Order: sequence, then structure tokens, then C-alpha cells
Amino acid sequence: MEINRRQFVAIPGAALAAGSLFSASGSMPWHQRIRRVGQINMTEHDPVTLNVEEWADYWASLKVDAVQVSVTGILAFYPSKVPFHKHGKFLGDRDFFGDCCRAAKKRGLRVLARMSPDLEWEDALEPHPEWFERNGQGAPVAHTEEPKLYRTCMFTTYFTEHIPAIMREVNSRYDVDGIFTNGWPPLGRLPVCYCEQCKKLPKAGSMAYWDKFSERVLELWDLYDGIAKEKKADNLYFGNLGGSIHCTANLKTLGDKTYWFNCDNQGRGGDDTPIWGCSLQGRVCGAVMKGKTSTNVTAAWSTGAIRWRNASKSPQEAQMWMNETVASGMVPWYHFIGAEGGLGEDRRWQEPGRQYFNWLARHEKHFFNKRPIANLGFVMGQRTHLFYKPPFTGSVQQYVDGMYYALLEGRFLFDFVHEDDLGVETLEKYKALILPNTALLSDQQCRQLQAYVEAGGSLLATFEMSLYNERNERRQEFGLSEVFGIQKAGDVTGTNGNAYYARIERKHPILDGFTNTNWIPGAEYRIPVKPVGEPVLSVVPGYVAYPPELSYPPKPHTDEPAVVVRERGKSRLIYFPGDIERTMWRSGHTDLSRLLQNSVHWLLAGDSPVVIEGDGAIESFAWETEAGFALHILNYTNPAMHRGWIREFFPIGAQKVRMQLPEGRRVKRVELLRAETDIPFHVRNGFIEFTIPKVVDYEVAALYA
Ligand SMILES: [Zn+2]
Repeated sequence: MEINRRQFVAIPGAALAAGSLFSASGSMPWHQRIRRVGQINMTEHDPVTLNVEEWADYWASLKVDAVQVSVTGILAFYPSKVPFHKHGKFLGDRDFFGDCCRAAKKRGLRVLARMSPDLEWEDALEPHPEWFERNGQGAPVAHTEEPKLYRTCMFTTYFTEHIPAIMREVNSRYDVDGIFTNGWPPLGRLPVCYCEQCKKLPKAGSMAYWDKFSERVLELWDLYDGIAKEKKADNLYFGNLGGSIHCTANLKTLGDKTYWFNCDNQGRGGDDTPIWGCSLQGRVCGAVMKGKTSTNVTAAWSTGAIRWRNASKSPQEAQMWMNETVASGMVPWYHFIGAEGGLGEDRRWQEPGRQYFNWLARHEKHFFNKRPIANLGFVMGQRTHLFYKPPFTGSVQQYVDGMYYALLEGRFLFDFVHEDDLGVETLEKYKALILPNTALLSDQQCRQLQAYVEAGGSLLATFEMSLYNERNERRQEFGLSEVFGIQKAGDVTGTNGNAYYARIERKHPILDGFTNTNWIPGAEYRIPVKPVGEPVLSVVPGYVAYPPELSYPPKPHTDEPAVVVRERGKSRLIYFPGDIERTMWRSGHTDLSRLLQNSVHWLLAGDSPVVIEGDGAIESFAWETEAGFALHILNYTNPAMHRGWIREFFPIGAQKVRMQLPEGRRVKRVELLRAETDIPFHVRNGFIEFTIPKVVDYEVAALYA
């Protein structure tokens, strides 16, 4: 195997996925061509208050490809005959679902039947005790807000008989194009249930339970997709898949199966969530869907810890979330809840949505992506996210956030890669891979990474990388000990007072810019490793921070490495024993971000497919598209970058772009899609160069090739 340095290698996974998608007529099914989705999430009251014609006109005016209409499962929005599919109290004799479905179809919109199988009323408790989730005492588990509703269990016949009965009833009566379940698979948590079915399963929360859980998700997914296809061959089922890497089922196996990944990643509140939460989601989808349809729900309602389901959020915040959706390769799904007074007491969200979707429709040919352009991979470690116990109280997401932030500061283009997808066909496009404390790696995954290095690939890893196998069992030695040339010399060491330092031992490109100092910050936690020859940084152990009289290093010099840097043939390897990306996130220390950025630059040896120079905090994506290429720049230069919501945008100035073109591709025109103007460009030695004069919140340079 030879690592291909070029960024334009086709991704066989994507080609395979797309190939199997073509129908007999040679065209792609409708669900792989959609670019806009809309939803007013229907309430029990809507059958007597929502103005169906106005509702359908609104979504048609946004040029959406599909709308969601509620069937539900908690409350029937049509005269259902399925026992225990309770009619809403305002439904009366009306066929509300049918009316909405017909109104949408009249306007040429696809209809997705929305169900919610996660809860059922207390009326069903006695006749169907087997349907419900049970606590340790065997009692059914009531919903936290509405005590008459109880949580259902996905291992029971509720999911294999009751929900399919509703799906088939809807199929038999209505012209639907797809079936969607909200509330299943469960978002962000694995079920803990002691019902008769679950008693036969491995212990809740264990790795063995996760395997069974993931199997059940696939089994139900197949069952529901089969039912959707009983109606029409190109109908489909898809479920709701939460946000971030912390989704519940194995995303690799689910991504291999499904043609539509929907992210219930609706937005942030006034907390300290970074703005890139939606782009990060797009990277997760890219890793497991490889170009198949991924949608991200953007709430126009007020998201956050304190919620107003029926009031609009800041339109700038919603707009940035949609910018990130499309920049990262997903399809936006605009969402509001309830239609009091015809189409909402608060209608402020409607015009911004119309403006945005119409802009997108005008330029949609540049949003059909073929493949991402990046030569840097970021291993997303789903098992580490679900099972690794960090040495602190808090979220494992901190490792990802810190590394992500450093990569944004360094303006790198990168893809996420799932740990179950480390084969040659996926890794060959990457010059380097990052393992941000990817603690759980199987023997096979370690062998794949070793093969990647032997073929010339480079790696950057931190902290407890490979110290656990895929079953979360601790190894005595790093699984990648030989690859990085490291040996464990002790257990995790934390900080009591003043964190450790990294003493500069010799010059190295990863230390560029550190002048006039003999040391830089270390990290909050580290794994001691054995001495290596010619260290670049050595550990000065932590000591007392208070009182200041004692705040000096009793041991100013050791031979314990604070980084291990290695070259093996064409491969470059960097291992940081400290959790430096997380420490950067927690401390905000700019030295640690610089160290990480320098390290990535050294791994890539100056080989970047796209270089963007200019002021400001940005995130960027580059795609090969059906129309040519597209470079997306998101402007995060905003006081709300680390704390929602965005109130106004602060434009940044000129961004100078230099982008590598694959051989034989000629660019005819460069258009800025937000500014809606063409800009000059020139091509030299296989690189195209142009300057984007200004970015308000978002800009897309579309290259017609
Ligand atoms: Zn159960």
C-alpha cells in the first residue's frame, strides 16, 4: 500500500454507497437529491388551529423538497383504528393528517410521516404491561413532564407490533414518501430498563449491552424500512439520531445501512457551547454516511436549557446554524413547534427561513457535494465517547472540543473518521491522522494504524490513546507502543496546585514561535512515559500553587518526555503524554493551541490542499461538487463564538485563498454565492488563487469547473 498524497482520491465507500443507490432507471432516488426540509411540529391543538392552506403555502414558498406531517403514536392525527393509538382531544372526526398530506402533495412537496414511539399513555399499562420500560423495582417509568405518559421499551412488542401496525395503517391510507421516528433511537443515552425482555440482556450501560442495543437498532431499522418500502420501492424509513459523537448506536454500522441520517441537533442556548456544534455534526455524518443524505434540524424556536417552544430565537443564531449545516455537507431542516392562531402566535421566524431557503434554492447546484477535500483525518472515537472514564468529572467531549478549536485556529481542513473505519480505502486520502485521547482501540484498529504508518501516514496522539481495547479493558502497555516508540512508566498523574511544565530541550518545528522562554505549559493530566533519546520537551513536575512562597520547581529538570517525536521513513509521529488538547480547552492557553497547530503543520510537511490567509476566527470546508468545487468559509469572529446566542455579525476582511486543483480540471468562473458576485482568479502550477474581499457570516466561493 502506498499512501496517496493527493486529496482528490475518490472515496470508494461513497462510490459504493452511491452506486447501490441508483435505481433501475439509472436515476438517484428522490431522498438523495433533497436539499431543503420543513416542519411545523404539530401539537394536539393544531387540528383546530393550524391553517392547512397557509401552512402548505408557507413551505412551498421556501421551495422545500419535503415536509414532516405528524402521524405520531402518542396522539393520532387521523382517525386511526389501531388500538391504543389515542386520538388527540381536538381531532374530533377530522382527518388532519390527510388534509395536510393532500395540501402538501398539491404543491408538489414530499410527505414524511412523523411518528413518536418513545412514550405511551397510562391506559395501556394494564392491558399491555409488557410494552413499558421498568425501573429496578419493576414499576413503569413515567415521563418527567407529563405523568400520564410512560416510557416504552424498544426490546418489546410495542416496537415490533404496535408501531408497525400504525405504519401500515398510514401506508394503506395516504400518499406518503417516508416514515420518520422521533424519540427513537433514544437520544444521547442508552436505556436502563428492567422489564422482562431487558432482564435477559447484558447489564445496562455495559459494552455487551451496547452491542445488543446496536443490533436491536439495526433490526428495527430494517423492519421499519421494509414497511416503508411495502408502499413504494423508493420510500424509506429513517430515525432520529441526536447530536455529536455521543449518539447511541454504533454509527458506523448504522451509517452503512441507512440512506438518511437525521440529526436532532437543533441549536444551543445561552450556555458555553461553542458555535461549531452544527459543523461538528456535519463531520460526524460525513464520516459515517459518506455522501448519503444527512439532515440537521435547525430550531427556529428558542433552544437551550430554558426553552420557549413557541417563540422565535435570534435569527442570526438560526442562520449561522443553517450556514454550518450546508457548509459541512448536510441538508437543512427548518423547524418550529405548533401553529397557534393559524400559523403561530410568533411568526418572526418565517421570513428569515424563506429568505435563507430561497437563497439556497437559487444556488443549489453548488451544494451537491461529491467529496470533501482534506488531507487530515480526526478519529472520532465513538466507543471512547460512550465508555471511557476520564480522570475528572466532566465530559469526554472536552478532548474533541480542544482539538477542534486548535484546528480551527490553524485553519486546517479535516474530516472525521470513525474508529471502525480505519481500513486502507478510507485512510489512503489522509496524509495525517489525529487521535485526540482515543483511549479505546482494538488490536485490529492498532494494526490498521500501524499499517497506515508503514505506508507513510503520520499520526498525532495524546494521553491515554490505545491504553484500552475495544471492550474498555485496560492494557498494560499502549496498543501503539511500538508505533510511537513509547513505553508507559506509571499511572495517570493529575495536578494538585500548579500543573506541570514542558521544558524546551532542543529546537524543533513544533516549537516555532516559542522564544524567550525555557518552558511552556504542560497539561492537567499526563501518563508518565519512559525516557527517549534526544527529547524535544521534558516534564517539570507540578508543585504547589499556593502559597506563592512555595511556587517554584523543586525538581526543575527530569528525563521524562513531555512529547515524543519520531520519524519513520516518510511517516511523522507525535505523542503527547499530557491531555494537552483538553487542557487547552479548559485553560484557554494559547501556547497549547500553538503547540498543537505547529505539530499538525509538521505532520503535513506543508502539504495543504487549501490555504486561506486573512484575519478572523473561521471554519472552512472545501468540496468537490457536481458543478466543480466549493470553498465554504464560516465567520465565527463574534463575541457569541463560545456562548450563545449570536446577536449580530461582525464582518471580516479579505481572505486570500490558494487551492490545489486536480489534474485536468479547468476553472471557468469563481462566484461568491452570498455576495452573489463573480471575482477574479488566476491559476498557477496547479493551484487556483483568489481573494474573497469580505465575509459577513458566511461565504461560499463556487468554482465552476
Ligand atoms: Zn425493557
